[in-house]
Amino acid sequence: MKDILAADWLYYDSILHNAKKIFEFYNFQRIETPFIEKAELFTKGIGKKTGLIEKEMYLLRNKENNELLALRPEGTAPVMRAYLEGGMFNLPQPVKLYYFGPFFRHEKPQAGRYRQFYQLGAEIIGEDDAIIDVEIILISRGFLESLGFSKKNIYLLINSIGCPNCRHLYIKEIKKYYKNYSKQICSDCQRRLKENPLRVLDCKNEKCCLVKQEVPFILDYLCSDCRDHFKLVLEYLDYLNIPYILDKTLVRGLDYYTKTVFEFCLDGEENKTSLGGGGRYDNLAEVIGGLKKPAVGVAFGVERLMQEMIQAGKKFKTSTPKLFLVQIGEPAKRMSFKILEQFRKENIPLGENLGKESLRSQLKTADRLGAKYVLILGQQEALDSMIILKDMASGLQELIPLEKIIFEVKKRLEKTM
Ligand code: AMP
Repeated sequence: MKDILAADWLYYDSILHNAKKIFEFYNFQRIETPFIEKAELFTKGIGKKTGLIEKEMYLLRNKENNELLALRPEGTAPVMRAYLEGGMFNLPQPVKLYYFGPFFRHEKPQAGRYRQFYQLGAEIIGEDDAIIDVEIILISRGFLESLGFSKKNIYLLINSIGCPNCRHLYIKEIKKYYKNYSKQICSDCQRRLKENPLRVLDCKNEKCCLVKQEVPFILDYLCSDCRDHFKLVLEYLDYLNIPYILDKTLVRGLDYYTKTVFEFCLDGEENKTSLGGGGRYDNLAEVIGGLKKPAVGVAFGVERLMQEMIQAGKKFKTSTPKLFLVQIGEPAKRMSFKILEQFRKENIPLGENLGKESLRSQLKTADRLGAKYVLILGQQEALDSMIILKDMASGLQELIPLEKIIFEVKKRLEKTM
């Protein structure tokens, strides 16, 4: 877990700001769900035999009724729960929602993975048309471009994992294929093959990755509905000139996905950094709430985006006020609050260090902050309702009536803009 310091917030804010602009243009509305949910929501929705549920969920017990709760490891299941509980199925469909907030996974410590991390996610609920899959991909690409990533560096990996009807045929094939490699794969995969065979394709173990290379293509086993859906998705992508790489081992780690799954990476296949991913999840609503509602979504890792923005040379300047208020003596100190409030109402940032007494130390702070002008309020000035305006570059000082100071400051700031 890590602290998010001021310099980091500049990236987080910029990511949220750009997401807001593009998602709200496409009519998405913001949603925030609680950080804690019933654990059952995730075990049912994501699947008991997934790495996320087996190893990575932070669990806690409710003291009054011993109920098992979880720190949310992902956003899709909670958003779907909120959609169902909030009766959003009564609204015109599809309902489009986006979120930005912290998530928690008890991951092994490793580069680029945190146990508390932020995700920016978006969901379109209530529509099964293939064009909706492409809409979320198109918006996601636009979002990545708005952060400064160049079009040609953004890779879209895509696959279809079918529906429960056709997936069992593929699972049979996987089992058959892996029979020849049972000694070569890791112990986790040996167990996965028995409990949830599709999950062997998520394995990052070097030996297992080699075995995966020749695994049968799931696309060859899709039913006609899933095949037609995926064909349409690819046709729309071609029409929009969105390049993609068909990745037969892309299944994503969560059991709720159906049909289209995708991931966004930078650079190339060799050196891929997953910025985010998503897919269609047509059965999740039924599994957690008994209502059939097709949906599609995406989630980006905010720390990953930030890391890549830094790598790409994106810099933000922290803004410091151009003005600084220096006060000397008790009457001036008290009057400072009134002056600060006047400047705040005019929306002119004014720095201060009210706890300090001496002129020297306050001027030093003003200098370190890079203030262009300093307003000096001494005992005499406070009595006379006057204030000194000092130009830090030239050292020039002028005595100005307090009631005119905002006007005089604005004049000078306009000139320096
Ligand atoms: P997922 O919810 O697993 O599909 O993850 C979506 C995105 O969230 C990934 O592509 C990563 O960018 C990011 N992400 C997932 N887990 C972590 C983590 N533990 N720390 C940082 N980012 C993460």
